[in-house]
Amino acid sequence: MAIADAQSRTTNSTGRPYYVTSSNEERVFKAAYHQGLSIILKGPTGCGKTRFVEAMAHDLQRPLITVACHDDLTTADLVGRFLLRGGETEWVDGPLTRAVREGAICYLDEVVEARQDTTVVLHPLADHRRQLPIDRLGITLNAAPGFGLVVSYNPGYQSVLKDLKDSTRQRMVAIEFEFPAPEIEVQIVAREASIPTDTAAVIVQFAQGIRRLETPGLREVASTRVLIAAGRLIAAGLTPREAARAAIAAPLSDDPTVQKGLMKMIDVYIAEPS
Ligand code: ADP
Repeated sequence: MAIADAQSRTTNSTGRPYYVTSSNEERVFKAAYHQGLSIILKGPTGCGKTRFVEAMAHDLQRPLITVACHDDLTTADLVGRFLLRGGETEWVDGPLTRAVREGAICYLDEVVEARQDTTVVLHPLADHRRQLPIDRLGITLNAAPGFGLVVSYNPGYQSVLKDLKDSTRQRMVAIEFEFPAPEIEVQIVAREASIPTDTAAVIVQFAQGIRRLETPGLREVASTRVLIAAGRLIAAGLTPREAARAAIAAPLSDDPTVQKGLMKMIDVYIAEPS
């Protein structure tokens, strides 16, 4: 019922989540985790950061508590609050506190969306102290063994104001993410959408074309996530052009000129089935 619950999710996966590695990111993550260092994942939305953390939590055999950050997120949402239950006030841990107590990996997705006063609570956790002060209870918790702090952010849409504080950043090891190389992305799209590799290859080629564009009207480039969505529409019976229009071109921009350009690109990159 707590607001915090609506934003957080705990995963105890049994099978390893499917994740195709492209560089040394798994080694860096595990080394940092074992040294008790906090980790920052930088990269565009939909490029595999969440999936990566899920795979790492599985390999490290830790529960994963994920919090989707947004600009209304308060310290209480992360740490906990008193709630009224049956006439009594009762303290309810927030997801960060649960992770600290349980020795889980806490993943704060899109941390720059959270207000800066919220992220201040992370400082003593992110550095060598590994402590979480809970002012409202007048206590300071030492993180249980196994606790790990991981945050992600998308450097693409930072305003100066929203940029992560240097003092937060300097407490962390950073891993940079990009979209997977085309041949890997084809594999991923084919598998995740259950479509043939050659169909996935057409979608990925189109995405490559969009990623090369330098158009101010484009909010985001086509992420692996939207390519998988297009693949799913194809698996559900749409033609590749229909799928690319609905899942890739339309969500990327509201600008009519950009839209028109993308629709034209679809006709060039994607053949209609004969
Ligand atoms: P982010 O957290 O960066 O926004 P996600 O982890 O949600 O992105 O990735 C979106 C989807 O793309 C995932 O659900 C997964 O299906 C797929 N994906 C992206 N990169 C990979 C990868 N390297 N291996 C496997 N799947 C991937």
